[in-house]
Amino acid sequence: MDSRAGQGLLRQRGVVLRRKDSPEGNRSVYVLMENEGPMWLLAPGAARGKVRFGGSTDPLVWGTFHVYRGPNRCYLRDVDVRRDFWSLRASSQKIRQAVKWSVSLVRHTLPGHACDDLLPVFFWSLSLLEEPGISDDLSDWRFYWRWLRSWGLAPDLNRCQGCGVSLSGAFFSGESLYCGKCGQRTGAGIRLEARDLCVLTAAAYLSYDDLLKNAGQLMIQPETVRSCTRLLENTLAERAG
Ligand SMILES: [Zn+2]
Repeated sequence: MDSRAGQGLLRQRGVVLRRKDSPEGNRSVYVLMENEGPMWLLAPGAARGKVRFGGSTDPLVWGTFHVYRGPNRCYLRDVDVRRDFWSLRASSQKIRQAVKWSVSLVRHTLPGHACDDLLPVFFWSLSLLEEPGISDDLSDWRFYWRWLRSWGLAPDLNRCQGCGVSLSGAFFSGESLYCGKCGQRTGAGIRLEARDLCVLTAAAYLSYDDLLKNAGQLMIQPETVRSCTRLLENTLAERAG
């Protein structure tokens, strides 16, 4: 059966981004689903324990969602949990970071529009957050850079946007990186030493395993990373609305 055609049963992998309980005891979960994009799923009675979902409707839970698509709305029937990222809840800083990503995903994606490229970006970023070796600031930078890359909007970290010269250090201004000469023309930006740029490039490009292997060498001022990540978030807000 083609579950996309209309009503019927649907089974897709996804992740819970938000959860809302109504005073009447109904639960709604906003799930980013493979092939479907984000969608609200209603679980009538779930908030008053009539239907038992346990922790499977908590935000950050990954799994396969069994859905009945009715004429007007979609109903959650069951969840096969794959990962719940429960350990992140033990640290207020880490859970704050994870929630920040969820909020960005809610804000910058459209209900009913598939954005499958973002699922692995989010999943592996949460995994990275569980790793002790890598700073949350660099994980944050990697998350937004990889998101922008999947949409073709990530800044080039290797070449000056103004003249194309290969960058050692750079000025990061607006959506792009510039060499010293072009940076002076375009005005103020975040000044990145060669070493900073090297660390940001590694955090953006390295595979998950290589990143962890090299985590000990990625030394950079936290404030520098945060400033750069804010520029990525600005790009996302301006381009995605
Ligand atoms: Zn230049």
